[in-house]
Amino acid sequence: MADANIEVLTYGFSFNSDQGSFGMSTNSLITVGNQTIVVDTGPASRRAWLYRALESKNLTPDGVDVVILTHMHWDHCQNTDMFRNSRILVHPTEMDYSRNPNRSDFACAKYLADVVDNMKLELVSEGDKVIDGVTIVETPGHTKGHISVAVNAGSETVLIAGDALPDSGTVKRGLPTNVFWDVEDARSSVEKMLASSKVFYPGHDRPFKLEGETIEYLHGPNNIEVINSTEGLGTTSLTFTVLDARPVNINMVQKG
Ligand SMILES: [Zn+2]
Repeated sequence: MADANIEVLTYGFSFNSDQGSFGMSTNSLITVGNQTIVVDTGPASRRAWLYRALESKNLTPDGVDVVILTHMHWDHCQNTDMFRNSRILVHPTEMDYSRNPNRSDFACAKYLADVVDNMKLELVSEGDKVIDGVTIVETPGHTKGHISVAVNAGSETVLIAGDALPDSGTVKRGLPTNVFWDVEDARSSVEKMLASSKVFYPGHDRPFKLEGETIEYLHGPNNIEVINSTEGLGTTSLTFTVLDARPVNINMVQKG
């Protein structure tokens, strides 16, 4: 069996501002033999970056065999329409909900499901094998039908976690930063992931490995350049605040 190779196409970050969320998800590329799988497609604001990242791997969107969507939040799936030839894999519960999302759910809009419904949609659930060495893991809580992807990469199982484990801080908190569906489900999903793997590709952070309690980042930029123009004095200053920890946000829980 060929070993799976995992690369990051666009790195995820937990960026927020007092004017809105940057919503940058991790979009990964799994290669097994000549098969290619993209996990999450990211927000429209990063469409050109995603395209260029594929190009740098000598790929075009049309050449990608499979796209797995961890969940139907805008910042993870807005570029799915780029992949016209790909099988699009989503959990049935996630699809059901996203076809008729709660009006108060600001991260999930019906048009996202409309796009996917017009593509080569396939519903997947716990234990489904995408190809040899790539398996679906159910990790609900952040959303109703969230999934993660377990990849056998050499001697290790790597978990492409999505927002069930969005950042390294989730390890300590035991919860993702945002819970949109159910807090207890989200907690159980974190426990399940930590029990099954030591290497994580989080939804909004760089990939890391757990060595005991210690978090060791594997790769990705640790500096980000924010560019703003003061031409015409439209914006006079930017402030950048780095938090030691983020509180868990459960204000938008939709279950009920
Ligand atoms: Zn999300």
